[in-house]
Amino acid sequence: MQQWTSLLSELNVGAIYLDEALARHTTWKIGGPADALIIPETREQLQELIKLLHQHEIPWMQMGRGSNMLVSDKGIRGAVIKLGGDLEYADFQEDVVTAGGGCSFVKLSIMAGKRGLTGLEFAAGIPGSVGGAVYMNAGAHGSDVSRIFKSAEIVLNTGEMVSYAAEDMTFAYRHSILHERKGIVVEATFELNHGVRTEIAAAMACNKDRRRRTQPLQLPCAGSVFRNPPGDHAARLIEAANLKGYGVGGAEVSVQHANFIVNTGQATAEDVLTLIHEIQAKIFAEQGISLEPEVFVVGER
Ligand code: FAD
Repeated sequence: MQQWTSLLSELNVGAIYLDEALARHTTWKIGGPADALIIPETREQLQELIKLLHQHEIPWMQMGRGSNMLVSDKGIRGAVIKLGGDLEYADFQEDVVTAGGGCSFVKLSIMAGKRGLTGLEFAAGIPGSVGGAVYMNAGAHGSDVSRIFKSAEIVLNTGEMVSYAAEDMTFAYRHSILHERKGIVVEATFELNHGVRTEIAAAMACNKDRRRRTQPLQLPCAGSVFRNPPGDHAARLIEAANLKGYGVGGAEVSVQHANFIVNTGQATAEDVLTLIHEIQAKIFAEQGISLEPEVFVVGER
């Protein structure tokens, strides 16, 4: 068979980057190369790409803005798909907004606020894409995607496009049906409400200020590393284990927020993984609680 990457270049599937270092595409600034990073810019390009990968049984995964992902140092075999171009739009109709899967979730919340629409204030500090936010049921400040979600257009791994309504998504804490059923969110529709622009702006500024005070935003990180166990907070448990500031190689438990691991400069994925395992072992030994990662660990080990 002809090398699949050269087959790709014969088709109109968007920009193709071979052996692309994924450290350039993750907020942790960590990650080895993908065999091919492909950035489709239209639905047609995306569907054509998925069909080709399916037909040739090439493994693939989707990424958004890499803000909840630890990519291994050896990187990812096969294709990594990231939505770009025309798949980053946002279209407002009255109090309903439809946004492309590649649209920035932060930008979407700012656009909604400027229009006096309430419901997306919680998203102001969540630095991912709309697709990643739907996949994760991202949330903060007492709200999450499930509260405003109306529907999504999803490309399945056969290339078929399907529509999911809210009841199809089985949203739960940082979970959606997409964890079990492979598919790419091409667009999502959210139902907002008309509100008072100044109140929305004030709520967003307050959320942002709280983050600035409590999160290490000046260093590369991926938000909360562990899911909160029922009835408790991972950050509280890690702090109680005296792990703030503890490090492995270039990876360190943030002194500002114990559930954040920061890259102090030259951290590798192995540094972060070792630190994750050490934290889990200490919390389990001392407090009998198993901490589960919220971040996705992907790639060849
Ligand atoms: P990625 O990290 O690229 O991917 C995450 C998962 O989503 C992967 O499994 C990927 O395959 C999948 N995915 C990505 N795009 C698509 C798509 N189009 N279709 C289907 N699946 C897709 N999260 C919160 O929930 N609340 C917070 O308050 C919060 N604060 C954060 C603060 C900081 C400083 C940082 C760095 C991160 C924070 N996060 C938070 C984590 C992260 O921003 C969210 O989980 C975000 O929704 C991930 O989106 P992404 O596009 O970056 O996804």
